[in-house]
Amino acid sequence: MSQLQAATTSPATSSRLSSWSLLLNNRLATGGLIILGLIALLAILAPILPLDDPNATSPADRLQPPLTEGHLLGTDQLGRDVLSRLIWGSQISIAVGLAATAIAALFGSIIGLVAGYAGGRTDNVMMRGIDMLMAFPYILLALAIVAVLGPSLINALYAIAIVNIPFFARNVRGVTVGLVSREFVDAARLSGKGHASILFTEVLPGVLPVIVITMSTTVGWMILETAGLSFLGLGAQPPQADLGSMLGEGRRVLFTAPHVSVIPGLMIFALVMSINLLGDGVRDVLDPRLRAGDLTRPRSMTRLERRSKPEPRIETDAILDVQGLETSFQKGRKTVPAVKDISFSLKKGECLGLIGESGSGKSVTALSLLGLVASPPGMITNGAVYIEGEDVFSRTETGVRALRGSKVAYVFQDPLTTLHPLFKVGDQIAEAILAHRRINRSEARSRALELMEKVGIRDAKERVDAFPHEMSGGQRQRIGIAMALANDPDIIIADEPTTALDVTVQARILDLLQDLRRERGMALLLITHDFGVVAQVCDRVAVMKDGDIVEAGITGEVLADPQHAYTRKLIACVPEIGQGKAFLEGLRPLFAEKQP
Ligand code: ADP
Ligand code: MG
Repeated sequence: MSQLQAATTSPATSSRLSSWSLLLNNRLATGGLIILGLIALLAILAPILPLDDPNATSPADRLQPPLTEGHLLGTDQLGRDVLSRLIWGSQISIAVGLAATAIAALFGSIIGLVAGYAGGRTDNVMMRGIDMLMAFPYILLALAIVAVLGPSLINALYAIAIVNIPFFARNVRGVTVGLVSREFVDAARLSGKGHASILFTEVLPGVLPVIVITMSTTVGWMILETAGLSFLGLGAQPPQADLGSMLGEGRRVLFTAPHVSVIPGLMIFALVMSINLLGDGVRDVLDPRLRAGDLTRPRSMTRLERRSKPEPRIETDAILDVQGLETSFQKGRKTVPAVKDISFSLKKGECLGLIGESGSGKSVTALSLLGLVASPPGMITNGAVYIEGEDVFSRTETGVRALRGSKVAYVFQDPLTTLHPLFKVGDQIAEAILAHRRINRSEARSRALELMEKVGIRDAKERVDAFPHEMSGGQRQRIGIAMALANDPDIIIADEPTTALDVTVQARILDLLQDLRRERGMALLLITHDFGVVAQVCDRVAVMKDGDIVEAGITGEVLADPQHAYTRKLIACVPEIGQGKAFLEGLRPLFAEKQP
């Protein structure tokens, strides 16, 4: 099955909050749910409640005020019971609104799916048709449709459904176009599936959340629009009551008996508000990024929940000193540590290799150093990070931000994902400089050019106006390094800087980092899973496993005499030229215990 499907429809595991509890965390949505539930309950129970006949007139009792004996909400100008008409009318308004939404969603989604999937001329013809519908102000269009079909509630329903089809068609087409070019759709095609089957089993599940979200945010609207048509006398016909027609009839006695129009007006307000609040809540719950944590925006700095308060300053000759750092992730109600009580230090001009297999907590460590772990779900639960003896987390958020990119700079694994695809590389480097310095644009640009030459990009003058996609992987990584160097940092943290590159480019990038380090006296924290890289570049090495540092020391010593079994395995994973099959044979006994 497709990745996207897995991401959006995976069952809520025990450690994840269920959709329900997420929705109930949102106070406004819960309020909406309660009000809507009450109104819906009343509407459903209308036939068995002891209500008067909503259409029974009684001229003797006209325009009784609310709280009259036998008429809790009074009577209207024909002596009909307002409470009864209100409940029956709500039932009709809700039913019409839901039906119109369902019809618009069905036809709109089919149009959007087919247009987005087929592309080309089909797409063009269908979407221009939709554009024509959208070109009219939609309430005018609805009026025109009812005028042609004749005024009645069912025609009002059709009219509202038709004018809302474009919203669904456009939204669904947009998502579909993105999905059909994805690899899992190609794979389904290669496996011999037909168009209909691909559309409904591969594409539809990815589009479903969008349909549900659009429905939940338009149903309130449609109820309002139906009420509008009835108000104008084009929807529900007398004696039938819906909320809009009650409002319309009450308008005539607005000054002598305001309750007749105010009560249905309030009901429309409560109904539409509650549906919209609930709809917003549903939309938040269906967003997979928000599911992982509570419904708040990510903060600019990782949350601090340190168990003990460390010294704000220490005496140290290291430029970076990490002590007892623990970073955890919130999973449902549990807090799971990903990095557990690790300590290491880095001197000026030194290179420390942080090595470990994928998932051992290297990236989380690197991001924790400047509070860059996303919060929620991440938080720093203990320890301290001292830069030149000062605890980073004792600073304010602004203080920490001032360190990022100036004192400490990052180089990430895949520059194609970290460089902005729509800006020229020269401008992106200039932007990194301007974030910390007050110089004008042309100075920043010429400095960007210098940096590009520094990191060994040939024809830097021409390449400065290139876009990221016009460069090779190695060149992009050089740009990433140039951005890191932009403000002469004292520490560079490189998280797998060469993993996305081939072996020869990897060697050149490592040489470049090495030269820059010597030349500028920078400290380098090099994160990798490859002992070959560590052996080539690092003075010291720390081996990470399951969020813990299991071994640390001078690179040569660790390589010559590894103490921990895990270190021996990592070292054994580096092949040597000319070793041939013996390499695999040598690995077998080390990993034998893992096999079933
Ligand atoms: P690596 O050593 O490959 O860089 P990471 O530091 O990225 O590994 O991940 C360490 C652990 O932290 C993993 O077990 C991962 O599941 C967990 N983790 C990382 N990011 C998140 C996140 N945003 N939410 C929950 N858990 C995470
Ligand atoms: Mg990583």
